[in-house]
Amino acid sequence: MKVLVIGGAGYIGSHVVKALLSAGHAVTVFDNLSSGQLGNLFPGAGFIAGDIRHPDDINGAFAKGFDACVHLAAFKAVGESMSEPEKYSVNNITGTLNILNAMSANGCKNIVFSSSAATFGQPEYVPMDEKHPTNPESYYGFTKLEIERFLKWYDVIRGIKFAALRYFNAAGYDPSGEITGLERNPQNLLPIIMEVAAGWRKELQIFGQDYDTRDGTCIRDYVHVSDLAVAHVKALEYISSRKESLTVNLGSETGVSVTEMVEAARKITGKEIPAKYVGRRPGDASALYATSALAKEKIEWNPRYSDVDTLISSTWAVYKNAKAPKV
Ligand code: UDP
Repeated sequence: MKVLVIGGAGYIGSHVVKALLSAGHAVTVFDNLSSGQLGNLFPGAGFIAGDIRHPDDINGAFAKGFDACVHLAAFKAVGESMSEPEKYSVNNITGTLNILNAMSANGCKNIVFSSSAATFGQPEYVPMDEKHPTNPESYYGFTKLEIERFLKWYDVIRGIKFAALRYFNAAGYDPSGEITGLERNPQNLLPIIMEVAAGWRKELQIFGQDYDTRDGTCIRDYVHVSDLAVAHVKALEYISSRKESLTVNLGSETGVSVTEMVEAARKITGKEIPAKYVGRRPGDASALYATSALAKEKIEWNPRYSDVDTLISSTWAVYKNAKAPKV
């Protein structure tokens, strides 16, 4: 298939591009390079510079004729979404509507969308399945949930089939070392641990040690980005061949605490990784992890790299040889 990967120069996007190319699809990346970089573009993909906030840019891209798109172009910092919601409205919501309208206008019938476990909000039970109530705690999570609702209507009215992939905590790097682009100013736990290990940051702040968990720190479900990437390919093949939309969780089904992650990173990197406990981060749930049974059943997805050792060692392999990115 001819696939437009919107946001394909970013961290998850470059892994998705690699997986699509390996599966034999023809890939063009559409990106405004706001967080991705041209140097990170996976070899073998075409490139269109453009911004989803500009309808002409995205229309012009779809006019070239694509069977499908993968949409990963979103702002994703939970904290920022609560202080600058307007950015999230325009980029995440209006930008996605621009994509859907351009798909309608140009006859593109398949979209794989990066959704998020942030659509659920505070867990009422774990492991969380797709039927768990959706009450996002952040404006970011709200934008992802709203987009899922738009997708349903464009399916009903325009016949655009979608796969909404609700990622849990994406982490890790291509285990074969072919993708090495770093995120500027990362906000997530593992890249921050790596920046401390590399000596670019003084210490890690651990947000809260008084949660009702085995060691008092929060538990999350970390899933390897190469496993996520494969899920995009399988989901695309599923919706396009069956003409049936899909909403699935993508997680490793294993809960890992912040302290467990730091201790494993100390062992694997051989670095001290100074860490200090600070207060809770607002909005953090104590324990979040998925059941991915539906993804297993529907798209035969079985994570291969999402164990803690592979997550950390594949990430350290990139950081230990890298220079701190310019912020
Ligand atoms: N976390 C932390 N220190 C940091 C960043 C994250 O203790 O500098 C914790 C955070 O409170 C959460 C877990 O690590 O329990 C994962 O956070 P992240 O922001 O990576 O993802 P989230 O779960 O918020 O999507």
